[in-house]
Amino acid sequence: MLEVKNLTKCYHGKIKAVDNISFSVREGEILGFLGPNGAGKSTTMNIVTGYLSATEGTVLIDGKDILEEPNAAKRKIGYLPEHPPLYMDMTVREYLTFIFDLKKVDLPREAHIREIAALVRINDVMDRVIKHCSKGYQQRVGIAQALIGNPELLILDEPTVGLDPTQIIEIRKLITHLGRNHTVILSSHILSDVQAVCERVLVINKGRIIADGAPDDLSRQLAGANAMVVRVAGPERDVHKLIRTIPGVKAVNLLGKREKNAVEFSVEVAQDEDVRGEIFRRLAERNWPILMMQPNELTLEQIFVRLIEGGDDLVARQPAAPAAQEPAAEAPAAQESEREAENE
Ligand code: ADP
Ligand code: MG
Repeated sequence: MLEVKNLTKCYHGKIKAVDNISFSVREGEILGFLGPNGAGKSTTMNIVTGYLSATEGTVLIDGKDILEEPNAAKRKIGYLPEHPPLYMDMTVREYLTFIFDLKKVDLPREAHIREIAALVRINDVMDRVIKHCSKGYQQRVGIAQALIGNPELLILDEPTVGLDPTQIIEIRKLITHLGRNHTVILSSHILSDVQAVCERVLVINKGRIIADGAPDDLSRQLAGANAMVVRVAGPERDVHKLIRTIPGVKAVNLLGKREKNAVEFSVEVAQDEDVRGEIFRRLAERNWPILMMQPNELTLEQIFVRLIEGGDDLVARQPAAPAAQEPAAEAPAAQESEREAENE
């Protein structure tokens, strides 16, 4: 469905926002694009959707090059940009009609808009001015706009940003639902977003893909190794040396003395190695009992936090979390009925 090859984007000829990224997305997949702020997610999405030109690389949508056949390629994509281009003074219906005409969709207009409104559940606000809709509804209107023309591929950039927890759950549900009939790519800097919705995740950091897999497989990939903690009653230096020489062990670090005559090490092991049996046999040969041996696997959450905190100046340069665009003051009654509709 989508094939991205060796994509690179430099801003102002120097800032490399995207650095030689390649990936493909199969039809029907729900792919998460996970990365801290400044990782290059929006840049990639803007290029894939033809809104921005790449410095290098190609994008094929269903075999069509986004540069050579932009119209044919773009017709297959529905895009919700990070800052949806909503016309705040239009009603939802006016806006969707406007987008319909803009996209030159060849379908019965009223019926198509009605169908989409039902799908994203915005029936109740169709005649409300967009700026008077809650942020949750505005996001649904953004998704509705992307769905006009029945594109096969939906690209959603940070669809849950600025939403409250209830709205986040609703939007996740909606995306999962849309995933039944569409290929979906969504980006987020929030791990739980992609874990909840996606069957496959690309982790992107500093313009590069650093992991690609099912959410459950990522922590191993990102850690690049497994670690465990081993406590042994034996002479520090000799135990250290012995463990170090076991094939598959990448590093051994002394954690300190524990109990009486015992030392504790962290042992780093190559990704697909299991050295526990060998550690047991060799230490037993020397009569140095293992008092404890436990895996020290990082959770994906921990790894991701490290990634974000990892002295990444790109993160620091980003403005603080984009402020939720507060809709203009709403009459309490309107808010009330909207909340009901949203929870329904
Ligand atoms: P993300 O969406 O993952 O937060 P972006 O793609 O928005 O990341 O940004 C990637 C990098 O490119 C960041 O360092 C950002 O500051 C930089 N960047 C983004 N847009 C521009 C621009 N228009 N001009 C210059 N630099 C930009
Ligand atoms: Mg972004």
